[in-house]
Amino acid sequence: MIQKHASQFETQVLGNSIDGRSISSLDWGNGETKVMLWSQMHGNESTATMALFDLFNFLEGSGDEYEEIRNTLRSNLNIKFIPMINPDGAEAFKRRNSLDIDLNRDAISQISPEAIILKNARDDFEPEFGFNLHDQQVYYNVEGTDKQATISVLAPAYNVATDVNEVRKRAMQTIVGMNKVLQQVVPGQVGKYDDAFEPRAFGDNIQKWGTSTILIESGGYWGDPDKQYIRQLNFMIILDALYQIATKGYEQYTTEEYFAIPDNDSKLADLMINEMLVEVGGKKYPIDLIIRRRESEVPGGYYVSGSIEDLGDMQVYYAPEVFDASEFEFEEGKVYESTLEDIGSLDFKQAIDLLKQGYLAVKVKNGASKDLHSLPILVLKSVDSFPSVWTTGSAPNFYLAKDGELKYAIVNGYLIDLENPKQQDFKQRIY
Ligand SMILES: [Zn+2]
Repeated sequence: MIQKHASQFETQVLGNSIDGRSISSLDWGNGETKVMLWSQMHGNESTATMALFDLFNFLEGSGDEYEEIRNTLRSNLNIKFIPMINPDGAEAFKRRNSLDIDLNRDAISQISPEAIILKNARDDFEPEFGFNLHDQQVYYNVEGTDKQATISVLAPAYNVATDVNEVRKRAMQTIVGMNKVLQQVVPGQVGKYDDAFEPRAFGDNIQKWGTSTILIESGGYWGDPDKQYIRQLNFMIILDALYQIATKGYEQYTTEEYFAIPDNDSKLADLMINEMLVEVGGKKYPIDLIIRRRESEVPGGYYVSGSIEDLGDMQVYYAPEVFDASEFEFEEGKVYESTLEDIGSLDFKQAIDLLKQGYLAVKVKNGASKDLHSLPILVLKSVDSFPSVWTTGSAPNFYLAKDGELKYAIVNGYLIDLENPKQQDFKQRIY
């Protein structure tokens, strides 16, 4: 993909990753102000990499109504893009590199070749502005609200005292402008990251080395699991920031406006079940549960692993799906006695019928652990049973019963109304 842009961008192989994958830069523009953007230092954080390629296509465009923007950028900026600093992690879709090192903790020691490449690129180019592009987990909200932090921003600190010098101030000002654009399309969904100084991180150190550094974290947006809308937001704010830098538009903003951007918090879940009755020692207690369904990538897609994150009084949390279980009691689920041939022997309706009879799981003869499926029931191959409990850290697999009758099933963190089951895209795997 980088080769495709070689005619309009000056491309260069900067070096190789541990597993020998090339890491390249693409240079564009003939202006004075140097800007460097790098993405995917964490291999499974790909949103900004997609947006950078969108930006390459935009910058290569011509003959449309955006010529003025391109000309302004081209004549004022000298931009170096380094997409995918961690190609080995990207290949495995994991955070760390092939040494199992978090590159964002390797800015000083530079044990990893990828860290050396990034550091050398900064030192050779000496950019005035830098963009450190990441993804964050989807459970961040904007503090005190139920809004997902779809984009989080930070002008990282360059010292423990979190002082503001001219370098950091410029980053803050640019972020204010980016936030103004974001508020028009995702109002209330921008959070400011904690600015505690991390002495080993790239963002903090690049700020310290004199490059005004902006961290962009792509979070979640309900209904956008593949982050294609967030990719558009990335494209939009990176382009906006580049335009601000080219025109010095950021100078109109103040650090006070930066500090006024609300903080990130981590109070989101996929599902909240409130006041479910559980019986302990012959007594019944009402507990709230917060459930997250974390994604794991496998070839051909991903599955989720439901988890009870916490329980008790959970009123400070938010979720898109909240269920009032105050009239419902916890009840265990069972494994269906006969073993099925494979997942193909079961359809959605049959799975719901089994759920209604108290079976939360079926066993199969054929299939492999981690094979994907989309049935609303647990499918077991390498194990014969599953724990049906409500305690923290466990997988949420149980029933909600009313007057002794099963009304709802919780399967791997999905809430299923047994009387009115709706087809949804269950991201399940064989256990
Ligand atoms: Zn990251």
